[in-house]
Amino acid sequence: MTLSDSPAELTAVPFEPSRNVHVYSNHALISHKLALLRDRRTQPARFSQLLKEISFMLLSYATADLPVQEVPVITPVGPTIQRVLAKRVGFAPILRAGAGMIPAAQELIPGAPIWYLGLYRDEETLRPVRYYDKLQEYPPVDIALILDPMLATGGSVALAAARLKQKGVERVIHVGLIASPQGLDFLAKEHPDVEVHVAAVDERLNERGYIVPGLGDAGDRQNATGAQDPTDEPFIPEAEEA
Ligand code: URA
Repeated sequence: MTLSDSPAELTAVPFEPSRNVHVYSNHALISHKLALLRDRRTQPARFSQLLKEISFMLLSYATADLPVQEVPVITPVGPTIQRVLAKRVGFAPILRAGAGMIPAAQELIPGAPIWYLGLYRDEETLRPVRYYDKLQEYPPVDIALILDPMLATGGSVALAAARLKQKGVERVIHVGLIASPQGLDFLAKEHPDVEVHVAAVDERLNERGYIVPGLGDAGDRQNATGAQDPTDEPFIPEAEEA
């Protein structure tokens, strides 16, 4: 794909399981936490905490088969051969919503480079627009994990994958909360080699490009910037004792 290509149509497509798409919707704890995240009453601080918790679980699955190499280790009891990561791994969070997945990524692989990518979606064309990208300044990595909670049209993740490959990344993995069938279809056509790890695949996109039922705007829900988000939890005074 070229950097300007992206999906314009929101045609419904069935979700077809594939070797590269991993969906953890039958994991009890992931589905439990995702239900709490989806709930419109969940407040921003709790939403961010849940996003971190699910991201940590998804990232641990997404990194389970990273290449390893054998190294000698001496324990207090004696020498042994152990396996450690063999490749340079980095994270590419897509701003704004992907920023909420960084704390989990940093806990999982401390010291891995974080390559921020600022992409926003043009409200009319639904195409991703790049507004922040300093990739040319950073030292290379071999494997990059794109962090973006919502794979809606697939345009942002496809654009991010194209940038990462342009930078020389050998293996690109996307980790997110919810994907749409259309987004998965688009990404598979543009980047059949990109692996996807998500907590759920939902029904469809609506006319504004939002995932249905989804969870709303993942950026707004973390940052209390949605039109309908209450800025404060209401204070309900306790009744006086008789
Ligand atoms: N981005 C979001 O935050 N939510 C959606 O449903 C789609 C894109």
